Amino acid sequence: MSDSVDVKAIPKELLSASSEIVYDAIVVGCGVVGPCIATGLARKGKKVLIVERDWTMPDRIVGELMQPGGLRALRSLGMIQAINNIDAIPVTGYSVFYNGEKVSIPYPYKADTAPVEKISDLVFDGNDRVIEDKTVHVKDFEDDDRERGVGFVHGKFLQNLRDIVAKEPNVTRLQGNVIEILRSKENEVVGAKVEIPGRGKEDFKAHLTFVCDGIFSRFRKELSPDHIPSVGSSFVGMSLFHANIPSKNHGHVILGTSHMPVLVYQISSEETRILCAYNSARLPKDIKSWLTTDVKPYLPKSLLPSFDKAVEDGKFRSMPNSYLPAKQNTVTGLCVIGDALNMRHPLTGGGMAVGLNDVALLIKTVGDLDFSDRETVLDELLEYHFERKQYDSVINVLSIALYSLFAADNRNLQVLQRGCFKYFERGGDCIRLPVSFLAGVLPKPFLLTKVFFSVALYSIYVNFQERGILGSPLALLEAFAILFTAAKVFTPYLFKELIG
Ligand SMILES: Cc1cc2nc3c(=O)[nH]c(=O)nc-3n(C[C@H](O)[C@H](O)[C@H](O)COP(=O)(O)OP(=O)(O)OC[C@H]3O[C@@H](n4cnc5c(N)ncnc54)[C@H](O)[C@@H]3O)c2cc1C
Repeated sequence: MSDSVDVKAIPKELLSASSEIVYDAIVVGCGVVGPCIATGLARKGKKVLIVERDWTMPDRIVGELMQPGGLRALRSLGMIQAINNIDAIPVTGYSVFYNGEKVSIPYPYKADTAPVEKISDLVFDGNDRVIEDKTVHVKDFEDDDRERGVGFVHGKFLQNLRDIVAKEPNVTRLQGNVIEILRSKENEVVGAKVEIPGRGKEDFKAHLTFVCDGIFSRFRKELSPDHIPSVGSSFVGMSLFHANIPSKNHGHVILGTSHMPVLVYQISSEETRILCAYNSARLPKDIKSWLTTDVKPYLPKSLLPSFDKAVEDGKFRSMPNSYLPAKQNTVTGLCVIGDALNMRHPLTGGGMAVGLNDVALLIKTVGDLDFSDRETVLDELLEYHFERKQYDSVINVLSIALYSLFAADNRNLQVLQRGCFKYFERGGDCIRLPVSFLAGVLPKPFLLTKVFFSVALYSIYVNFQERGILGSPLALLEAFAILFTAAKVFTPYLFKELIG
């Protein structure tokens, strides 16, 4: 790494960390999760080293729509102002399109969700409230009756998080590539080996090392060699400029019997992200013609001019959609968190909400401990693994189950997909509960199970209606197959999330 980097271009303070001292914590990676852990621990009085291989603003198509649950965690951490002054777009709910029909799903009322917890030492001087800027208005975020999410350019949000962590006097930032997690003779983690531009390889020691090196994590295997994600599908993403989106301030989910799901959401005043699902880890050979023949015909008309322009410009980017259930951390001195620990389908935009809620819970769990008491810290981390499940399992299982329904590649799944849309059309609790799960404000896995199977039963009912009296014997047979399919796309994942 040091060979390819222009050392002179790197600010001096990013290269001067001392390897002589033992830090309370080393944080590997300054993506979404890293700066939040480092800030939280620093505010609890811990001496933190955060190592990032590239501090310049990243340009990625991930983590651009934050669900209300993620914003609530940022409030708990006293970091909500990371969404300010980046031309962020408030999100008030979702619009789901199914074969051209549309249903609007607003986010739930604040009164129906638990109050946001302010973590002591982290929240002060109003840092749990947004400030007024060109696109984020205090009255909308603070005084509105309903929860809000937000869309933003990922790199700009990250830059704000990094600016917040930079202001913490207890944090030392270091530019470098972590190349090894250091172990003692007893096989406990004791720090990290970092390759630093202009300095070479150096060992840094800490009582606790947090691995948050993201989706392509090199160090998640420190938990266990079989902690490996599976990839079943991908997203092809493009930027639409000045798009005429059908429902302002809504995330759009475009579904249909003949195509894969498409997501559309605004990320700045000018830019809208479109993510088109492809049901394989290997992308289509000719992306341009796939977008033109298999995606374009199903998009709302108002999007077509900006879509055509984006296809013509040909700036496609793709990302694998990985799934990885979390694993309990049993290694003294180590804590793996964020995408390195746990991943779900990005369809429901829940990754940042999971990561940030994990950070908030983690700070509450270990933030006041003395990290040199490594056994006590490990005991607390063992407990934390089970406590996080309540929140994270809902978002994770929902993402996988909804993707199976929305990408429906067999008739049973298509019946469930249609039933799900019809269920939303009924309104009331048929919208309130699903959107509360999606928003990350209703951490109740057993209620999710009940709602999911209610959708399945409703789908069977809709199928009976459509088959008519003459078709009812067939509909009865299909009912068993539909229920079995529903169980197959839901229960194994619930089991993995809750038991594993
Ligand atoms: C296609 C796609 C779309 C998504 N959309 C959304 C969305 O809309 N909403 C949402 O909530 N979530 C979304 N997600 C998920 C979300 O992006 C992740 O959950 C989130 O970014 C995880 O944060 P993290 O800090 O764990 O990892 P990252 O944000 O990936 O950060 C990892 C950091 O570690 C650094 N790093 C890696 N290796 C090293 C090393 N060896 N040494 C030093 N530094 C290192 C990297 O440079 C990076 O800065 C999406 C994911 C995908 C794949």
